[in-house]
Amino acid sequence: MGEQALENVRKLINDVGDRINIDETCRLRLGECERELTVHFPVKMDDGEVKVFTGFRVVHNDTRGPGKGGIRYHPDVTLDEVRALAALMTLKTAVVNIPYGGAKGAVVCNPKVLSLGELERLTRRYAVEINILLGPESDIPAPDVGTNPQIMAWIMDTYSMGKGYSVPAVITGKPVEIGGSKGRFGATGRGCMICALLIAKHLGINLKKTTVTVQGFGNVGATAAKLLAREGCRVIAISDSKGGVYNPKGLELDGLLAHKRETGSVIGFKDAETITNAELLGLQCDILVPAAIENQIVKANAASVKARVIIEGANGPTTPEAHEILCDNGILVVPDILANSGGVIVSYLEWVQSLQSFFWDEAEVNDYLQRIMTKAFAEVLEISQQEKVDMRAAAYMLALRRLAVAMAMRGIFP
Ligand code: NAD
Repeated sequence: MGEQALENVRKLINDVGDRINIDETCRLRLGECERELTVHFPVKMDDGEVKVFTGFRVVHNDTRGPGKGGIRYHPDVTLDEVRALAALMTLKTAVVNIPYGGAKGAVVCNPKVLSLGELERLTRRYAVEINILLGPESDIPAPDVGTNPQIMAWIMDTYSMGKGYSVPAVITGKPVEIGGSKGRFGATGRGCMICALLIAKHLGINLKKTTVTVQGFGNVGATAAKLLAREGCRVIAISDSKGGVYNPKGLELDGLLAHKRETGSVIGFKDAETITNAELLGLQCDILVPAAIENQIVKANAASVKARVIIEGANGPTTPEAHEILCDNGILVVPDILANSGGVIVSYLEWVQSLQSFFWDEAEVNDYLQRIMTKAFAEVLEISQQEKVDMRAAAYMLALRRLAVAMAMRGIFP
C-alpha cells in the first residue's frame, strides 16, 4: 500500500510537471526524499520482555523552510508510505504558502495494544533515535494517525532534556498547557468544514440542505462531522476501522462519540444501521469526507461513489485512476493537499507562538486559519478555471510553481 501511495504522488508530480513544463531539476529533486532515517530500537514492555520496534523519519524537501509533518503509529506503516506522506507535506505547505518544507515520521506499532507506560517509553526512545533530524529550525513533527497531544508532549520533553532547556517549538500539536496552540486539536477538521463552506458557495449549494458521509471517526473525521453538523448539514453515515453506521435522518454525534469512547467503535450505535466501509463510500450523499487512511477510493470502487463533492480529509485517500473516474462522473474533489491543510496551518501558527512565547486566543487562531485557507482555496479554484483542470491538478500546479521558483532562486549548492 505504501509503495502504491508513493507511486501515486510521483505520478502526479510528473503528470502535472509535464503540463506546466516544470524545470527538470525540480522534478528530479521532488521525486526523492532529501533525508531518510530508519531506526530499530528496544523498548522494555510491562511484562519485562524487550521488543525491538522500527521507526522512520523522512524530510522530503526543505527548500521553502524546515521539514514539517506528522508522526504516525500504525502496525502496517512502511518507509514508502512515510516517503509519500512527506512528499504530500512539501506540496501542502507550498499550496497554502506557509514557510515550510515537507517531512513525516512513523513507528511500526499498534498503539491500541500498548499500555500508557509502554507508549511513553517507545515514544521517548524513538524521539532520541531521530533526534539528529529534529529541531525548530530543521524538522518539526506533529500528530498523525495513532498519535496525540500527549505523545507530542513526551517528544517535546525528551528533546528538551537533551538540550538542557525547554524547546516547545520543536513540535506542534502539543497540549496548550506546555505551549500548544488553542484551536490546533480540531484544526484539520475545521479546515475541511471551511472547504465545504467555500465549495458550497462556489456551487450555489445550501449547506443546510446537504447530506454528509464521513469515513474515519478520529481527530479529523469526528471534528469535521461535528462542525459540518453545526453548519446545518445532516451527517448520515460515519465509519471507523471496524465498520460504519448509517441513519438517513442524521446521526446524533455526541452520542456516537460517547458510544465510540465506551465500546471502541461506532458499530452498535442505537438508531442506526450497521454498514461496511465499502457501503459507506457508495452511499448517496452531497458531501463525502474520507478521513481515515490512504487508498480508500480506488479503481474498483470509484464508479460506485455517488457523492456530489469529496473533501479529502485524509492524505491520499483517492488513487489517480479512481480520481479520473470520479472526475468523469462529474464529482468535484477538493484534494487532500488543500482540504486537510488546516492542521499544518495551525501547526505553523503554533510554532510562531512557541518561538515568540506569545499566545493568541482561539478566535484569532481560527480567523488566521480561515484567511489562509480561503486564499489558497481561491487561488486553486482560479487556476482550475483558467487552465480548465480539476482542483487536484490545479493545487499541484500552484505548489510545483512555488517550489520551482524557490529552488531556482536558491540554486544548487555548491
Ligand atoms: P486518527 O487516528 O485520529 O483517526 C483515524 C480514524 O480512521 C479512526 O477512526 C480509525 O478507526 C479510522 N480508520 C483507520 N483505518 C480505517 C479503515 N481502513 N477504514 C475506515 N476507517 C479507518 O487519525 P487522524 O489524525 O484523524 O487522521 C486521519 C487522516 O487524516 C489520515 O490520513 C491523516 O494523515 C490525515 N491528516 C490528519 C491531520 C491531523 O491533524 N490529525 C492533518 C492532515 C491530515
